[in-house]
Amino acid sequence: MDDHADIAEAAAALKAGGLVILPTETVYGLAADAGDARAVAKVYEAKGRPAFNPLIAHVADIAMARRIAVFDDRAERLAAAFWPGPLTLVLPIADTAAVCDLARAGLDTVAVRAPAHPVAQALLQAFGGLLVAPSANRSGRPSPTTLADAVAETGGSAAVALDGGPCWIGLESTVVALLDEARLLRPGAVTRAEIEALIGPLSEADADAKRSPGRLTRHYAPNLPLRLNAEEPRAGEVWLGFGRKGGSGFNLSPDGDLAEAAANLFAYLRAADLADGATGISVAPIPDTGLGEAINDRLRRAAGYIG
Ligand code: AMP
Ligand code: MG
Repeated sequence: MDDHADIAEAAAALKAGGLVILPTETVYGLAADAGDARAVAKVYEAKGRPAFNPLIAHVADIAMARRIAVFDDRAERLAAAFWPGPLTLVLPIADTAAVCDLARAGLDTVAVRAPAHPVAQALLQAFGGLLVAPSANRSGRPSPTTLADAVAETGGSAAVALDGGPCWIGLESTVVALLDEARLLRPGAVTRAEIEALIGPLSEADADAKRSPGRLTRHYAPNLPLRLNAEEPRAGEVWLGFGRKGGSGFNLSPDGDLAEAAANLFAYLRAADLADGATGISVAPIPDTGLGEAINDRLRRAAGYIG
């Protein structure tokens, strides 16, 4: 496969207002030109995503991010430490044209991240502008962590699908708002402790829906009912174990490694959903430390506990 030709074709499709399935280190995204409201509207349509849920603007690097968002000292420190990588910053918007109103859901803030995946970086360089790239699943479903899962979810809407292999993190980015107090809007691969070490204690996301609209809906959900913190599977349930809680079914990480469990989570939820004759899915307890906070956040939402 000629990677350069694929990237050029994808950049041309984006410039023409089309959508591209894009690998990132977190999950596969469905990308569009962030400044093109018609293209962004196609992303909402392909995902069936409520238009009040704003999208993340993806940039190649911090220089590109500074042109659209207002960076304070905390933002500079976090971007220097974790970009490119799985951290999204919510900041005051500086250039309202670069990220259209629809992508921001009309807010005067913008979510911005520089992805580390080499294919995402190559596309951002070739395209030369900002991309929105929410997870390439239908809204509410588990995020795709392989090209095949992305194509199965939203392939019909994409002009080009880029292959970057399985996503090595497998969970969406950590989202931190730096508008007044620093707030953790979504736990993710960059942990609370890593962020607090640089900018001090994080406040909880407040109940103000506008700050984090994505937290209001059921998310990441398989079709089968999901039972959490289970000691063992009941009759008819597919088992997702962790560490020594193995047994038949799946094991998110036989060694009890949270990074491995995060990378496997969505693919195993999808696979469990397809098991013959299954009536539910049960999941072993996952420690709530480090990356476990993000895994448990996704599991609670997938199970329909909106917290
Ligand atoms: P996704 O694109 O599915 O990874 O979700 C993006 C996340 O970032 C959602 O939880 C959004 O609610 C959140 N987000 C995006 N833009 C903003 C913003 N301007 N203010 C607060 N949260 C945002
Ligand atoms: Mg998503």
